[in-house]
Amino acid sequence: MQKKTEEQGRMLGEDHLPEEFLQETKRLLGSRYGEDDYRLFLQSYQEEARAGLRLNRRKLPNLSLPAGPEQEAWGLQPVPWAEGGYYYGPEKKPARHPYYYAGLYYIQEPSAMIPASILPVSPGERVLDLCAAPGGKATQLGAKLGGRGVLYANDISSSRAKGLLKNLELFGIPNMFVTSVGPDELLDVFPESFDKILIDAPCSGGGMFRREPSMVKSFQEKGPAAYVPVQKELLEKGAKMLKAGGYLVYSTCTFSEKENEGVILDFLAEHEEFEAEAPQIPGRGQNGEADMEQLGLRDGVGLREAIRVWPHCAAGEGHFAVLLHKKGEDKRSSPSHGHAHLCKRAERDSWRKELPSWAAAFFREVSDGFGSGTLLCRDNQLYLLPEGEPLHRKLRYVRTGLLLGARSRAGKFEPSQALAMALAKEEYTSTVSIPSYDSRAVKYLKGETVELDGLAARGDADWMLVCIDGFPVGWGKRSGSSLKNKYYPGWRWQ
Ligand code: SAM
Repeated sequence: MQKKTEEQGRMLGEDHLPEEFLQETKRLLGSRYGEDDYRLFLQSYQEEARAGLRLNRRKLPNLSLPAGPEQEAWGLQPVPWAEGGYYYGPEKKPARHPYYYAGLYYIQEPSAMIPASILPVSPGERVLDLCAAPGGKATQLGAKLGGRGVLYANDISSSRAKGLLKNLELFGIPNMFVTSVGPDELLDVFPESFDKILIDAPCSGGGMFRREPSMVKSFQEKGPAAYVPVQKELLEKGAKMLKAGGYLVYSTCTFSEKENEGVILDFLAEHEEFEAEAPQIPGRGQNGEADMEQLGLRDGVGLREAIRVWPHCAAGEGHFAVLLHKKGEDKRSSPSHGHAHLCKRAERDSWRKELPSWAAAFFREVSDGFGSGTLLCRDNQLYLLPEGEPLHRKLRYVRTGLLLGARSRAGKFEPSQALAMALAKEEYTSTVSIPSYDSRAVKYLKGETVELDGLAARGDADWMLVCIDGFPVGWGKRSGSSLKNKYYPGWRWQ
């Protein structure tokens, strides 16, 4: 592991970590694994946190990046517990690469890849991410759905929910709702409604001190106990929204026993319809504990099914996750009925017949079979709502389904950025592809006009789908030998 600079090291020496935090970790580690373990834990604060990215299986079904010199220089190494998860080297900046803008990966702390990895989501299911912003885990769940079924991504903070929306759109997830309400309001509308639920609860954040030393201050101000009531409430309400047979993951980024095993064991004592289950983790075979140890993961305190990540045992920050099963018919991998993938092609495409005249010509350029659901036209904007999902007055929506585009003042259809990201290159007739190493890729992402000479282009529709190495990034309009830039201004490369 990379040693921290002296300055960073000093920031997180023992003297800079909260007393309550030190006492608790000493108790948790020392009493179970011996004093030496606690010493190794403290030592880990002198090392750099590892950075990670997670590939988007929606755009990269084989979970590998196109080969290229820059990607090789990133020194990608697989994260052993998450499919498509990779560590990248210090000082590398994959978020400053056109592939990031093409939604090919999400920058995510490696331990944070565990909760959505262990929630067994299958295409066609109804999934809720109750505390979803900024969307690390929601993008992972959305990608697992493969465009079928529905993801409700919720966060009580409306400003954070906007960032969540951007990340889901960047990932090209079409079958989703983004809401910004409390758990009570959701439960009112969705009793026993979801196959799978993720509760990545707000917490005291002790697991993140090495990565974000600023979190020490809020820990000192509030402490773990302040979070327990909201964590319990989220779990109570989440449990009531889960269908019988469904699965729920509860996770935090703290070591605190109160916020982790404490919340779960109290919950299990009061809910005999729930049980904790040892999750399937990539890299964990039949050997249970031995495999966990090899992965560097540990189990919970008095809750063996839970997973704890300790930074001195694994290359990741502090995290806790547990998989809960609501007894009843098994929903481990059964898609709910009535969803898009069960419909015939003609039914799936029926929304096209509803298109208003100002949008119909545009969609003749989009291949049959793209998208399914119900068309909604509101305030001159067109949305494609996931199949069989009505809107509810009581909910505050940040986004209802896939925003297809809007009617311009001139009465013409203008496709949205989200539509560009949800399409595959083959699903639209007119495309231009810029190689990622060509300076025009970044020029386009900065909102500049781009010369088309020498670029692979096809089709003659008014709107062109602009791709980088074949992956859509936005729209443009041909104007002679150049491309008028229609990249969404709010997403520009800065
Ligand atoms: N799951 C997110 C991810 O992977 O990017 C991180 C979630 S963060 C740990 C916890 C989130 O819970 C915060 O965004 C916070 O706004 C939200 N939150 C706090 N209280 C909530 C509540 N009562 N209902 C829903 N969300 C809540």
